[in-house]
Amino acid sequence: MLIVMHHKASDKQIKAVITAVKRMGFTAKPIPGSERTAIGVLGNKGYIDDTNIRDLHGIKEIIHVSKPYKLVSRDFHPRGTIIRIGRHEIGEGKRPVIIAGPCAVESEEQILKTAQAVKNAGADMLRGGAFKPRTGPHTFRGLKEEGLKLLALAKEETGLPIVTEVMSSEYVALVGEYADVLQVGARNMQNFDLLTELGRIRKPVLLKRGMSATIEEFLAAAEYIYSGGNHQVILCERGIRTFETATRNSLDLSVIPLIKELTHLPVIVDPSHATGRRSLVPPMAKAALVVGAHGIMVEVHPEPESALSDGPQSLTFPGFEKLMDEIRKIDAFLGY
Ligand code: PEP
Ligand code: MN
Repeated sequence: MLIVMHHKASDKQIKAVITAVKRMGFTAKPIPGSERTAIGVLGNKGYIDDTNIRDLHGIKEIIHVSKPYKLVSRDFHPRGTIIRIGRHEIGEGKRPVIIAGPCAVESEEQILKTAQAVKNAGADMLRGGAFKPRTGPHTFRGLKEEGLKLLALAKEETGLPIVTEVMSSEYVALVGEYADVLQVGARNMQNFDLLTELGRIRKPVLLKRGMSATIEEFLAAAEYIYSGGNHQVILCERGIRTFETATRNSLDLSVIPLIKELTHLPVIVDPSHATGRRSLVPPMAKAALVVGAHGIMVEVHPEPESALSDGPQSLTFPGFEKLMDEIRKIDAFLGY
């Protein structure tokens, strides 16, 4: 439930409402706004009978929120959240952020070459997995801590902030030492222990949509991190599983404007895992920006044909440079 106070409500009236909410056994979270204060009511399992509250002075409106997510919803926080990563800002009104790099860190040469190439082409951040979630166990599963150290080296050489995946709660501290943004993969979107642990840190988290997750489940997963106290959550649409097998997943682009209506958190698109095919990545990356994504994350590899994972969807260096040229035109068109 959200209690919206009148813009002229006094501190005393706000305090009286908070006391009344607490007396009912719930948590009251004041949300000061530029126009008026709202008070979020948390801890209820179902509908709250508001008879004891609604006649208190200073209340403008009571909104019953029945969604499983509250703190991340626009109702609770009308203004878009902006997340700072190094000198970049991601979110409402900001130039879309471009994250690029290989699926996995494979060697020092591979990651340094790629970091330099994507930086020269205009990328804002470097991606690369050191801990890789793979469908089968007989494939390359990442260089683990060695991979994190190579990412640190790439950051030292290029200045690009690092986005890398953390697969389990026990590795949050380790990955957090190296990463500027900790990624939660699609397969882990509902790993609630991991989400809870990420709620305790104070670093941005990139939460990818589960391949069979509804938007409500996606936002409820974000709520785990946010309600733990970590408010730096970036959402990422990466395609969902449908009956179609011609593409790796089906990119659900209409959820970008929808998510922007439902939540104040930034949302980006990963056209690489969404399509699984190199030729489809640039058109879908551009489409994502046009429908309002706050950024994109793209896989790039020096030699995709010999990549240890996701070669078929990885762009070559020239392919990425061409995409960046086109993105600059789209940015200009969008007014950035
Ligand atoms: C990735 O980004 O490297 C990845 C494994 O993606 P997803 O979790 O979306 O499959
Ligand atoms: Mn990949």
